[in-house]
Amino acid sequence: MSRNLCRHFLQQAELVWRAIEDADKFKLAFGEETITETLLLELRRRYKKNIRVDSFDKFEESNNGADWEWWFGHGTSWIGMRVQAKRIKLPEEKFASLFYQGKNATQLQIENLIAEAKSARLIPVYCFYTHSKKLPAIGSRYFHCYRGWNGPFHAYGCMIAHAETILYKGSMNLSDIVPISFPWHCLVCECQYDKLSAFPPFDTAQNIYDLLKRTSSLADEREDRDPDFQPEIFEPRSELPEHMQMLYRDIAQSDDMLRRHAEEWDLGGLMLIDTGGRH
Ligand SMILES: [Zn+2]
Repeated sequence: MSRNLCRHFLQQAELVWRAIEDADKFKLAFGEETITETLLLELRRRYKKNIRVDSFDKFEESNNGADWEWWFGHGTSWIGMRVQAKRIKLPEEKFASLFYQGKNATQLQIENLIAEAKSARLIPVYCFYTHSKKLPAIGSRYFHCYRGWNGPFHAYGCMIAHAETILYKGSMNLSDIVPISFPWHCLVCECQYDKLSAFPPFDTAQNIYDLLKRTSSLADEREDRDPDFQPEIFEPRSELPEHMQMLYRDIAQSDDMLRRHAEEWDLGGLMLIDTGGRH
């Protein structure tokens, strides 16, 4: 089923890639929160059955009010992430606010993301919105989807990386971040999976787990590389946590509970994608 979804993610990455270029040309901010909301609106609009989103107004005194909690999976295998979006700064091709520290904050925003994610047993992740002149055709490692689909796409318009690996790498340059990231369509891609002959069914959550592990292991070729560096990647769970089950079932009375959850964890929104079944 998620061949369609994969293509949709690729198309959205292409859109982001081009929109950032145009926004820059026309001196429009087109910031990360706007991009995230645009992407999720389009997703929700198209895939009514298997996608749930819920966003919240920013809470007062929030440090990380725009972080999202995302869950992917199907049946008895689910993986959860705490996601912070960052948009590239041009023409430097840097994620300039990556190691930002708030005025009264005791730690960096990235450290905060990691700590908050871990205490909720979520994987801390960045979603980078990208455009590049220096790396016009980044990455061929994960290109196995688009052929014959009006491509090629700029798949790295939206890319995903483990926040601990980013912190360990310690660079805000796109060229350093690309090797430890993967394009976001890989979150939902099962294009190479032969559904007719293969059993058991494709495991989206396990695939995401493996992708994060693989990209994090490429973190560094420095001589002083710490051999013990090991980002926390929580394994897929057999059940969604209660609040996500509520979201999934679309229970009207759950609004208050979800809002309390978002407030407690300082979240800007929740998203759930069931990659099983038909879209
Ligand atoms: Zn695919």
